[in-house]
Amino acid sequence: MDFELSEEQKMIASSARAIARQFGPEYWRAKEEKGEFGAEFWKVLGEAGFTGILIPERYGGAGRGTVELLIGMEELVANGCGMAGIWYLVLSEVFGALSIIRHGTEAHKQEYLPRLASGEMEFCMALTEPDAGSNTLETKTFARKTRDGWVLNGTKTLISGIDRADGVMIIARTTPKEKAPRKTHGLSLFLADLPNPAVEVSLIAKHGINYSHTCNVGINELALPEDALMPPQDGGWYSLVDTLNMERMSFATAAIGLARLAISKAVAYSKERKVFGNVPIGSYQGLQFPLAQAYAALESARLLNLKAATMFDGGAPSEEVGATANMAKLVAVENGTKAVFHAMQVFGGYGYARDYDIERWWREINLIRLAPITQEMALNYVAQHVIGMPRGY
Ligand SMILES: Cc1cc2nc3c(=O)[nH]c(=O)nc-3n(C[C@H](O)[C@H](O)[C@H](O)COP(=O)(O)OP(=O)(O)OC[C@H]3O[C@@H](n4cnc5c(N)ncnc54)[C@H](O)[C@@H]3O)c2cc1C
Repeated sequence: MDFELSEEQKMIASSARAIARQFGPEYWRAKEEKGEFGAEFWKVLGEAGFTGILIPERYGGAGRGTVELLIGMEELVANGCGMAGIWYLVLSEVFGALSIIRHGTEAHKQEYLPRLASGEMEFCMALTEPDAGSNTLETKTFARKTRDGWVLNGTKTLISGIDRADGVMIIARTTPKEKAPRKTHGLSLFLADLPNPAVEVSLIAKHGINYSHTCNVGINELALPEDALMPPQDGGWYSLVDTLNMERMSFATAAIGLARLAISKAVAYSKERKVFGNVPIGSYQGLQFPLAQAYAALESARLLNLKAATMFDGGAPSEEVGATANMAKLVAVENGTKAVFHAMQVFGGYGYARDYDIERWWREINLIRLAPITQEMALNYVAQHVIGMPRGY
């Protein structure tokens, strides 16, 4: 067991820190208020190779693993980007590149990976539906086989980045649920170019992360070629699990990074601010202990998360990766949320002011209780698949 980062991992971390300093809290405050995409940031991420960390060198990437991507993401988040440090990378590199690297055909790889590696192509994933959030197997979007391809119909909701993405991975049924031999059978993954008039998008006004839009999506007679399907037909659930596991690890990283960011700002403020006499508020144990407690728990969440990523990169079975990734996400979000809550308390009334940024990070970290997997569903996973209790739903 080696806890030391390699020279290359240290370089990725240091390059991420430099980018985060260039695109710090003021940049994201303005982008969030205007509801504007961080185009300058995305360009720099592409130039610095972050958009292609996972992509094999023969397709224009760096050919590294998810451990390296998570190390880069955490430094981006913790050094000033906040949630933006993972968000666009999740949409394009996890939903797009990772899914295609693991499950695409050679033709898919050649078509998509070089443009994803350079950052020229933006991607997204359309999984969630009005009646299929935590319960993905309720997916109703259907792909009908035609003589020369597929025609998709359905409704998706809460889909991030689809208003500007160049490509999307759509999860659809190819066998109706009632005809499937197993409940996990019958889902398939499709790749589609965007925009397309058969894909109708409307924005959902939301609480935070407004430098990216999240949308309702109507899919109306979307015609796709035969090879738009990522094989195997009907076995998409088992492929999708890889993408979802890495999504969980990415959001665990976001929670850890956001907590580090909020704690560092709170510590700096707490050393300056004096309320009674000449004693800085940072010396009060009432403010110190909750932050110290959360910080210690977050160190353990990071180890668990990097363990999950190491297992994933090493080809461990997806259930084992899933168990570790869900536990990491659970602990990271529970303690990250506490950390940002108590960091906000350090600022007193200023904690509520936009200019201090902490209220934005509070809005951002609260998302991770609800998505990509809710804390309750992560607990269900641990209760049933790790400690072996019966399923109650
Ligand atoms: C900002 C944002 C961006 C998103 N981006 C995307 C995206 O890009 N692509 C995409 O496909 N999806 C996206 N999502 C959707 C997200 O993955 C879902 O919202 C999430 O999976 C939860 O599903 P749901 O909202 O339908 O909640 P529900 O499944 O309706 O759950 C509601 C509540 O019931 C609880 N609950 C349900 N079942 C159980 C149970 N068995 N035991 C205990 N509690 C239970 C849940 O924990 C939750 O608290 C996004 C969501 C948000 C908020």
